[in-house]
Amino acid sequence: MIDRDDFVPDEEWERFREISKDFPTPNIFVNLDVIEEEYKHLMKTFPYGNVYFAVKANPGIPVIRLLKELGSNFDIASRYELDDVLAQGISPDRISYGNTIKKADDVEYFYKKGIRMFVTDSKDDLKNIADRAPGSKVFVRILIENSSTADWPLSRKFGCHPDMAYNLLVMAKERGLEPYGISFHVGSQQRDIGQWDDAISKTKYLFESLEEEEDIKLQMINMGGGFPARYIQPCNDLSDYASEITRYLHDDFDEIPRIVFEPGRSLVGNAGILTSEVVLISRKNNTSLSRWVYLDCGLFNGLTETLGEAIKYPVLTDKDGGKCGEVILAGPTCDSADIMYENTKYKLPIDLKSGDKVYWLTTGAYTSTYASVKFNGFPPIKTYYYNKKAIYDVDGNVVKSLAS
Ligand SMILES: *Cc1c(COP(=O)(O)O)cnc(C)c1O
Repeated sequence: MIDRDDFVPDEEWERFREISKDFPTPNIFVNLDVIEEEYKHLMKTFPYGNVYFAVKANPGIPVIRLLKELGSNFDIASRYELDDVLAQGISPDRISYGNTIKKADDVEYFYKKGIRMFVTDSKDDLKNIADRAPGSKVFVRILIENSSTADWPLSRKFGCHPDMAYNLLVMAKERGLEPYGISFHVGSQQRDIGQWDDAISKTKYLFESLEEEEDIKLQMINMGGGFPARYIQPCNDLSDYASEITRYLHDDFDEIPRIVFEPGRSLVGNAGILTSEVVLISRKNNTSLSRWVYLDCGLFNGLTETLGEAIKYPVLTDKDGGKCGEVILAGPTCDSADIMYENTKYKLPIDLKSGDKVYWLTTGAYTSTYASVKFNGFPPIKTYYYNKKAIYDVDGNVVKSLAS
């Protein structure tokens, strides 16, 4: 159904097969070398950009350690993520608190740990920041309506209208905070590069009006995430995103402010392969053309982003190449919502049977921790990380040395 080589080169595939073959399924193997390549590629395409990795996309300790070494900063959403990142010896000035939804106590917790950069999009939250994190830098997230061209939209819930952003930044100054910049997120896996144009124009208006009318000189644009990973639906290359976005910035700004990116999906997505096993194959009646294929992974165990069939992962088996037929792909739990693809017509080999492996490519982002803890008793999916030297568990312990 798909050409594997478009997603994972032969050599890398063979290596993955060799490394992962003895591990029970379901599991995810994340290739740290791919993350390193993606990071370097991003820095090369946006030489002026500052990267704050969106930790939620893959919070494994090996990922955090690698990105620390590569010089990345970190965008954090909760005190638990913060503890994990600080425990790796990352200094607080490389961390921002990027969740607009937070308790006052959490604000104080971050402040006490040395974090001085906070996002906001509401008055109450801003007041909490002024009270509990005095003098900190704040940036305001503006609302972007983008639901149709992003495969995993992050609109509606986050951000405020630019007029309100204006008021919040004025209020920040009045309350002794440092009004620092504007952020937005155009939606994850955003296929329409033009969405950045609109967001940058709104940002420019805020930069100008705040300087002219309030003598507030903002310094940063935080463009959030949105860059793509390689799923079934084709996307432009990162270099196309870079050339367009750079052009929008030059069109709107004489002097480009500090630019921050918060990539999640695009940094870690391509690095992961989820291996599952067929539990059962059945037909619902004697003449039905499509088979139900039940796997040991599912919507509650690693594949949450198939909700609404939003993210369409490339799927492979060891029997690809022969005759294929339509399937409905579902998970192992006793919940009828646990169906990955029914309307999207996936085709798998006719001779597929229980016990066979099914591989899900591009599963390095929003999979490993995006799982239920014990629904129907199933444990969360196990994730392993590897590079040339070793296989590591999620806490960074060596599971197996690969050095020969
Ligand atoms: C999730 C998130 C990101 C990452 O977005 P991707 O589309 O995965 O790159 C960036 N910034 C914020 C604030 C987020 O919540």
